[in-house]
Amino acid sequence: MAKTILAVGAHTGDAQLTCGMLLAKHAMHGDRVVTVDLTAGERGTPAGWTVADFRQYNIECAARFAKKIGGESVVLDTPDGELYDTKEEELRLAALMREYRADAVLYHWKNSLHKDHEAAHRITDNAIFYASLPTFEHPLPPAPIRRFMCAENWEDEPDFSPYYWFDVTEAFPLWKEAIKELWLAEHSASFKYLRYYEALSVVRGARIGVDHATCFGTSPTAKRQKLDLL
Ligand SMILES: [Zn+2]
Repeated sequence: MAKTILAVGAHTGDAQLTCGMLLAKHAMHGDRVVTVDLTAGERGTPAGWTVADFRQYNIECAARFAKKIGGESVVLDTPDGELYDTKEEELRLAALMREYRADAVLYHWKNSLHKDHEAAHRITDNAIFYASLPTFEHPLPPAPIRRFMCAENWEDEPDFSPYYWFDVTEAFPLWKEAIKELWLAEHSASFKYLRYYEALSVVRGARIGVDHATCFGTSPTAKRQKLDLL
């Protein structure tokens, strides 16, 4: 049965860069994939642009990326740099998880250089709770979320360690084509995004004997393994 995967990023670009290869693979296998950007990342405005124009452009880029990999894009309207883990943000995201009937959620690791990323982690953690809780009064039924994992993002490095490893070799060419729709992939003066995430996929892939891999982290409690006997 087809699954629905929601990838949540603090800014347009985060989910597409860190989860995009796995999303593209799932879309190729017939699953529904959705990127949810909690802000449009509009304050990384390039010279010569207004913040408002860059915001609109980023929303269009996210939609083009999603279309190319066979998915959907949602960009929320919280201003870039002003993301806080309020109950309002959590319930808004939880409602999306219920609306899309998410089976799996990908999101930011808990520690980051960027405060919006840390807020995005907490918002998503609590949204998963509100979206899954059957006794939480809501017009939509609970989302059937079975898996949630944290993406490997260059800004979210403190204490991140890869736990889940996915072979994304078959989806890599599609992702590479799609990610060029995002302005920052090749044009950011502060970080070589495409180059970094392509290289990371090669390094991670080498460790599991494939051409390209994407890794995700998880909390210590999710690593518990129940065994009966050796
Ligand atoms: Zn970001």
